[in-house]
Formats: sequence, structure tokens, C-alpha cells
Amino acid sequence: MKIREIIDAGKCTGCGGCVVVCPIDAVTVKERAVIGDECTECDVCSMTCPVIDGFPENEFDNVLRACAGRSDMQGQDGAAVSGILRSLLAEGYIDCAIGVGRDDMWRATPILITDAQDVAKTSGTKYTHAPVLSLVKDAMEKYERIAITGVPCQVHSARLLNEKKIVAIIGLFCMSSFTHGLCEFVSGLGVDIRDVHKMDFDKGKFVAYADKEHRVPIKDIKGHARPSCKHCRDFSAYHADISVGSVGSPEGWSTMLIRTKEGEKLLDLVELECGDADMDAVKRLSDMKRKT
Ligand SMILES: Cc1cc2nc3c(=O)[nH]c(=O)nc-3n(C[C@H](O)[C@H](O)[C@H](O)COP(=O)(O)OP(=O)(O)OC[C@H]3O[C@@H](n4cnc5c(N)ncnc54)[C@H](O)[C@@H]3O)c2cc1C
Ligand code: SF4
Ligand code: SF4
Ligand code: SF4
Repeated sequence: MKIREIIDAGKCTGCGGCVVVCPIDAVTVKERAVIGDECTECDVCSMTCPVIDGFPENEFDNVLRACAGRSDMQGQDGAAVSGILRSLLAEGYIDCAIGVGRDDMWRATPILITDAQDVAKTSGTKYTHAPVLSLVKDAMEKYERIAITGVPCQVHSARLLNEKKIVAIIGLFCMSSFTHGLCEFVSGLGVDIRDVHKMDFDKGKFVAYADKEHRVPIKDIKGHARPSCKHCRDFSAYHADISVGSVGSPEGWSTMLIRTKEGEKLLDLVELECGDADMDAVKRLSDMKRKT
């Protein structure tokens, strides 16, 4: 069975796609997929697995245009993602959005929101893993128009679901995600993790922002990168309607790659301040991911 091979090879990203399609709920996902004894080996789940589907040769051949964007919300960069979700919920274009929240110990969890006022609960990057797609099955039973935000492996699987109710797919750029060991590492710096209000990467350093900035070389946290990320060759979320990231825009802005007509339509509904983005900078980071 194909997903068993993916799991055994250490390549499962924990995206949660297989959970959505398994007809008998035989698979669960936390860090990675775990197949229960009741599995009938029907192989239906392999249809939604991003690793089995494979990576694009040219990650940028579907980009219609690139720009920078920012909203008036607080977010990781320009809060473009939060601004998009808030508008789509407020306009009634979607009736729910699935994203990632966290508790005060920085444990990341997938969350489903239905109210524009709750979007802030998902704002900000959590560099640890959360199986976003594991909430899709529930959402499809209750809601008609669903937005999904997630890292490239998650939006890839969301696209493979080919589900009419998923009307907006917002992807994030991603070099790698980390285990919860990253948060334990931050605590080890003598920082109370509950005081950390932002984690980020800046000029070759990992930074935890609390009462002051705690900067460490990226090599110090590399050991906490999730092993499955080593196999990943999609930096910019090829399968999203709109991909959003930090690189390529000035501080306080988010870079946006519009990849589908649906993505253009979504942006027409949204109030965002717009500027220019540097596509070469995005491509350089994508190349770096592929090389390393
Ligand atoms: C693991 C990870 C690695 C990243 N690496 C890079 C990078 O190398 N270079 C780069 O330019 N950008 C990277 N990004 C993207 C960047 O950090 C911002 O998420 C992006 O610029 C959007 O910023 P924003 O202010 O518009 O988002 P906000 O308005 O702050 O919204 C954040 C959105 O991110 C979602 N989210 C937060 N954490 C997670 C998570 N763990 N998994 C899935 N979804 C999540 C939330 O649901 C929310 O919708 C990464 C993001 C993640 C999650
Ligand atoms: S092979 Fe079939 S039964 Fe087994 S986990 Fe996949 S979808 Fe479920
Ligand atoms: S669909 Fe996602 S969670 Fe399931 S086996 Fe593939 S990578 Fe792992
Ligand atoms: S690098 Fe990012 S997109 Fe790729 S498998 Fe890891 S978390 Fe998923």
C-alpha cells in the first residue's frame, strides 16, 4: 500500500489528507499518519497524498502575478492572510476557515473559525507542525464553503481532495517546519515561553521575541526540523490559489503569488494595501530549499 511505504520511508508530512478520505476512519495523524489494524488496504488514501503525487519541476510556472500586500491586522508579516480570511468571512464568501492556532506554551493546533472576529486566533506563524487537514472531514459535514490555509504539503493535499466545498486555498511559503522541541529549545534559552509573542527568521538567525529579542544561529535549531521536510521540494505552495510568504517584500508586508483565477477573484473581495514584490528573492529561496 502506497501510504504505508511513504510512512515507512519517513516521508509522511503529517498533512492529514489521508484522514479526510479514508472511508472507515482507519488512519489518524499527529506528527505523521498512523494506520490502524482495521485498514482494508483499499489504497483510497494514496490519491490525496502530496508525497505520492510528487513535486512540481518548475515551481513558478503557474504564477499569474506577484505583489506585496498588508492589512490593518497584526500578523506574522503584513497580516495579508488574516486580512483575506477576515474579508471572506465578513462578506459571507466562506462560512468557515481552517487554520492554525496555539496555546500559551506555543503548542500549535488546527482550528476552525466561522466568525470574522475570530481570525486573530490564527494570526502569526507557528513554526511547529499542526495537521490542518484533519479538520476538513468535520467541516465538510457542517459547512458549504470552506477556506484552508496551510504550508505547501497541506495545500497540495487540499487540492488533491478536489472537493467543491473547498473554495479558497491559501498557501504559505515554507523552508521547513519543526517539532515541539523547538519550543523546548526556546525555553532552554532562559526565556519563559509564555512571554514569547513571535518567532521568526531574520538575517540567518532564528529569533524569539519576548521582553527582548533572543537571536540564535539557524544551525542551532536545525536538529528540531521535522525529518520529513528534508524530502520536500515545494517552497512556495504550488497548489494554492494564493501563496503568501515573507521573503520578497519589505518588513511589515507579505509577498503574495496569485496562481489561479479563483485567487484573483478572492483578492477582488478583499481590502488589502498593495505594493511590489521581488520574485527573484522568492526564487532564490526556493532554489536554496531544493539544493539543501
Ligand atoms: C512552518 C512555516 C515555515 C515558514 N517558512 C517561511 C520561509 O522560509 N520563508 C518565508 O518567506 N515565509 C515562510 N513562512 C510564511 C510566513 O511565516 C508567514 O506565514 C507568511 O508570510 C504570511 O504572513 P501573514 O502576516 O500574511 O500571515 P498572518 O496574517 O499572520 O496569518 C498566518 C496564517 O498562517 C497559518 N499558520 C500559522 N502557523 C501555521 C502552521 N504551523 N501550519 C500551517 N499554517 C499555519 C495561520 O492559520 C494563519 O492563517 C512559513 C510559515 C510556516 C507556517
Ligand atoms: S488504505 Fe483504505 S482503509 Fe487503509 S487507511 Fe487508506 S483509505 Fe483507509
Ligand atoms: S496524506 Fe499526508 S498524512 Fe497521509 S500519508 Fe500522505 S503525507 Fe502522510
Ligand atoms: S517543508 Fe513545509 S511544506 Fe514541506 S513537508 Fe515540511 S512542513 Fe510540509
